[in-house]
Amino acid sequence: NSFCTLLVVPVAMPTSPSLSSTSSSTSLSVSASESESSFAASVTRIERGDDEEPEFVDGVPDELQCGICLGVAKVAHVTEECGHLYCRDCILGAFDIKKACPYCREPLTDKGIRKSVRAQREIMALTVNCGNAKHGCEETCTLSDLERHMERCQYAKIDCPLRTYGCDAVISRKVLCEHLSACPVAVRLSQGDAALEHEMAIHQRANRGQFIWKIENIQSRRGQACSPGFMAHGLKWCLRHIPAQGGVFVVPVGHNKRASFTLTIFNTNQDNDVTDFDGGWPAAKTSWGFAKFTNPERLGTPGFVVDGCATVGVVMHGLIDD
Ligand SMILES: [Zn+2]
Ligand SMILES: [Zn+2]
Ligand SMILES: [Zn+2]
Ligand SMILES: [Zn+2]
Repeated sequence: NSFCTLLVVPVAMPTSPSLSSTSSSTSLSVSASESESSFAASVTRIERGDDEEPEFVDGVPDELQCGICLGVAKVAHVTEECGHLYCRDCILGAFDIKKACPYCREPLTDKGIRKSVRAQREIMALTVNCGNAKHGCEETCTLSDLERHMERCQYAKIDCPLRTYGCDAVISRKVLCEHLSACPVAVRLSQGDAALEHEMAIHQRANRGQFIWKIENIQSRRGQACSPGFMAHGLKWCLRHIPAQGGVFVVPVGHNKRASFTLTIFNTNQDNDVTDFDGGWPAAKTSWGFAKFTNPERLGTPGFVVDGCATVGVVMHGLIDD
């Protein structure tokens, strides 16, 4: 598809580590093959659950079935004395009730069972249907190759790689290119949407562990605004913006711990980002931050307000001991 080879994004795709980690360039052309390999890493949704039973093309031979659940033996274990095969969990569960082989009633101890490497190897060599058979994939492979196939399967359901920026489409991998030519977020990008480009650039340069909050209508709103909650040091926090003070504050949610933190307000020019550190949150204060962090002079400087929004990020460094 031509769109895939023509799609030029202003920054590396945020969900493709292989691209963003190897390039500091601000403009990247994603070719079809590049996008295919890097988008594989962006898969966050595979419909087949891990515990869903694979579909064996020729069924499971009796000697590889568990004597308790009658399915294919999972983590196959065999009894030493009588040689009967079970799933590990099935036989350990049965042992809780009675120390005997459930199939032939031979008395057993825990030491009377062992992992069956041979049975496990034979099971892994059985032929299975792809887990996306219900979506149209006709591939078959050995059980040992199934995971590798599923990672590449063109019928696998994946999230749009631009999910972070507002596209919530779930698509088959094989129609990724078609989707990107119609994806509302990709279309905004290809039309040079400045606000979206700013947002992507911020996400790209944000620290790991940084919580990012876009403060809407920052110059016209009168009332306070609160960010969604975020987790740091196992505790919930949020940010609060108080327009009258131009202040941005960290607020503990459901606890009264304090922390040192770094607050950043992002500019479209990364060199103009402003970052302040604070390590002196007093015990008496239920929230702490910087008054005038979003003062009118700063907001009036080009690059801090895009589409009516300013974007701030916070890194919570460490809890303050009392
Ligand atoms: Zn079983
Ligand atoms: Zn037995
Ligand atoms: Zn498949
Ligand atoms: Zn999309």
